[in-house]
Amino acid sequence: MIEISRVDIYHFSAPIKEPIVTSFGAIIARNNILLRIEDQDGAHGWGEIWASFPPCGAENKVRLLQSIVLPTALGRRYENPTEAWHGLTRLMRRHALQSAEPGPFAACLAGIDVALWDLAARKAGVPLWRALGRESMPEPLPAYASNLNPTGTPEMIASCRERGYRAFKVKVGFDLTTDLENIGTIADSLGDGEALMVDVNQGWDIKDARAAVPAFAEMPLDWIEEPICVDEPVEQWAELARLSQVPLAGGENILSLTDFENAVDDGHLGVIQPDIGKWGGFSGCLPVARRAVAAGRRYCPHWLNAGIGLHASAHLLSAVGGTGFLEHDALENPLQAPLAEPFPPLADGCFLLSDRPGLGVEPDLGTAAQWLQSHIEMSA
Ligand SMILES: [Mg+2]
Repeated sequence: MIEISRVDIYHFSAPIKEPIVTSFGAIIARNNILLRIEDQDGAHGWGEIWASFPPCGAENKVRLLQSIVLPTALGRRYENPTEAWHGLTRLMRRHALQSAEPGPFAACLAGIDVALWDLAARKAGVPLWRALGRESMPEPLPAYASNLNPTGTPEMIASCRERGYRAFKVKVGFDLTTDLENIGTIADSLGDGEALMVDVNQGWDIKDARAAVPAFAEMPLDWIEEPICVDEPVEQWAELARLSQVPLAGGENILSLTDFENAVDDGHLGVIQPDIGKWGGFSGCLPVARRAVAAGRRYCPHWLNAGIGLHASAHLLSAVGGTGFLEHDALENPLQAPLAEPFPPLADGCFLLSDRPGLGVEPDLGTAAQWLQSHIEMSA
């Protein structure tokens, strides 16, 4: 039994020297929302809420937590985290619809879910990968360097290689000729055992994609991510899948269990990428990931934020298994390591989870204080 007795909301924002360039715009600072949830016995757990874009969206989510979500959650008792996620999702359904903000509500509930799973696993004295159903110590997880900008990419990949990465994902969806040249140059320079992926970030319409997807599909890529908007008709996704021998990837912008089930069952996505801090937490993403792997898809968690969500994604990937890569933010991110200590270095391109209870990490709030925007304490 878990009673949500106290919650601390932390909002951090850290400036970065070079913006992250995507086909939908530039990200100029790193924003992060952490939740620390305490139960009736004083046990605690940490969760992270997706807050990468836009920066002002982080402030909105903090206010939603403070004014609606947490006043509803505090003092409620649930048998386990999954029951809490389903129960709170039901309680917040009309608010999410009435405000026309289903995404921010889903992200807030995802962060609460991760914190409750961490809390429950810590209380039981087991690592989260075990609480999620894995019995043996996880193998090192192959991680890929994500978020790589479209300019200066060969130099960035060389630097990532030195840091241990063996797989790389580069942003495309800008000028097609330049994109193809850029990715072609990188593909030619790959070493044995290295992998390359491209992320369009929904940057093409179907007309663009009909030309671009087959051209990229001639290269040795592991996947082509979000070539068109997630809500384009399924016929368009089916057409692109037929045009490409390289698997299509998506999932970071799917926000319901039904839509995920359809995405897995339709079969147009070879790679399924739910974001644990944007929708579902463990309770939503675990069944999605299991369904994906059972259907022969590759489950590769989407994550581009700080270290709590990265660890949550890694625990889930370890528990589910399959051949997926862990998305690992390789650009400047001052919040990544200090908010999840001890933060593991990559070993031969792989991410190592510990057998410490729960997520196995704690934020270093002292170091992170320099980036703190707000801290709100709420009790039942
Ligand atoms: Mg992406």
